[in-house]
Amino acid sequence: MNNEVPFEPFRIKTIEPIPITSRAERVRWLHEADYNLFRLRAEQVTIDLLTDSGTGAMSAAQWGAMLQADESYAGARSFYRLQEAVRDITGMPLMVPTHQGRAAEQILCHVMLQVGSRVPSNQHFDTTGANIEAVRAHADELVIEEAHDPQNLHPFKGNMDLDRLAAYVAEHRGNIPLACLTLTNNSGGGQPVSLANVRAVSALLRREGIPFFLDIARYAENCYFIQQREAGQEGRAPIEIAREIFSLADGCWMSAKKDGLVNIGGFIALRDSNLYDQICQRLILTEGFPTYGGMAGYSMEALAVGLYEGLDEHYLAYRIAQAHDLGARLKAGGVPILEPVGGHAVYIDARRFLPAMPQSYFPAQAISVAMYIEGGVRTVEIGSVMFGRSDEAGSEQFPALDLVRLTLPRRTYTSSHLNYVADVGIRVYKQRSALVGLRITQAPPALRHFTAYFAQLEVGE
Ligand SMILES: *Cc1c(COP(=O)(O)O)cnc(C)c1O
Repeated sequence: MNNEVPFEPFRIKTIEPIPITSRAERVRWLHEADYNLFRLRAEQVTIDLLTDSGTGAMSAAQWGAMLQADESYAGARSFYRLQEAVRDITGMPLMVPTHQGRAAEQILCHVMLQVGSRVPSNQHFDTTGANIEAVRAHADELVIEEAHDPQNLHPFKGNMDLDRLAAYVAEHRGNIPLACLTLTNNSGGGQPVSLANVRAVSALLRREGIPFFLDIARYAENCYFIQQREAGQEGRAPIEIAREIFSLADGCWMSAKKDGLVNIGGFIALRDSNLYDQICQRLILTEGFPTYGGMAGYSMEALAVGLYEGLDEHYLAYRIAQAHDLGARLKAGGVPILEPVGGHAVYIDARRFLPAMPQSYFPAQAISVAMYIEGGVRTVEIGSVMFGRSDEAGSEQFPALDLVRLTLPRRTYTSSHLNYVADVGIRVYKQRSALVGLRITQAPPALRHFTAYFAQLEVGE
């Protein structure tokens, strides 16, 4: 890697002490939390890898810009500053702020879709899929076959399958008001989409006159992967690659809590002024006036700065290397992981970690629980708890993969923190024969991972 700096490319100016806890406390807290890590208080967690959404650290430049914010209801200076940054990076003239990514999705779905519409993507993020289905349209996923194999080393496992897209467009012609690409593919493990794939998807959709939107939560990480892995792209700055990608699309939306390097915020950017007018109507109803949408002036200032910091090559080299190094350490210690490691997280493959444990005992949740007890590390289960369903007869339907996600907040933990996390993972792996499964004692019908109650199975149960 040509941009790599062998340390974090920043120094620390403000610090927050990390809670140091005892094993006895963690055992008690976890029991009180019914073995659901979402129920823990953050101060009971030593290293928090639950999510990279809104959990990053802001820079001195961002905090400085926030003090200069204009909180005017209409026409705030801070809105124009954000609009200028979005125009400069995306080339799209029109923009509305939203409070986060899913608010942008809700508005786009409401304005662009009808009952029965088809919306293809490589893979929709879960809130995107849920918003499409909420207006009774269909969220369809056409990612390449390699994405489903956790050990396949394809460099762009987020790519859309072009043959399937062509067949899909032929089948549903006239009923596709919107097509998307998610950069990087969060649901598929943070895997990137190649520039060649974006070009080909764009060409096909333009021929067919289908509006093409990008879900750009992690687009900067995607651009860095293109620079590192795609032939002919090595000399280009991430911002140049980003500008080409945006030139191929009609619009985009962003959860700015990811590569925008802010704690809250989002936006929609686009070219079509008729669509923009409709979006503004819906925005006023559900978010706010178009020059603030769902954001404070100070959040718009922080985002205007954060968008550029998120595209900085040294920052991106550090960010991607951090995920890669954590994965490499775990793997060297024997822990089975999903490969290649994506941009924002390392995923432990629970099936290979605990091959003898039945899926009905929630092996990924068992590993997550063990990592908390062993070292106070909070991870998130992405598997049978999150995607499993009880059918009418009460028997469980399970997803194809059981994963534990170790998600990296941006600019928050140093490599020594993550070396500690790897040690904790390896220690748990060495004790894997002693891990016990869990059962759900109570759960709501939908999105059960957030609020379910668990109990540990007794040995021999
Ligand atoms: C986080 C995310 C969203 C939703 O954004 P929120 O800010 O959490 O509402 C949509 N798409 C992708 C790819 C995401 O990662």
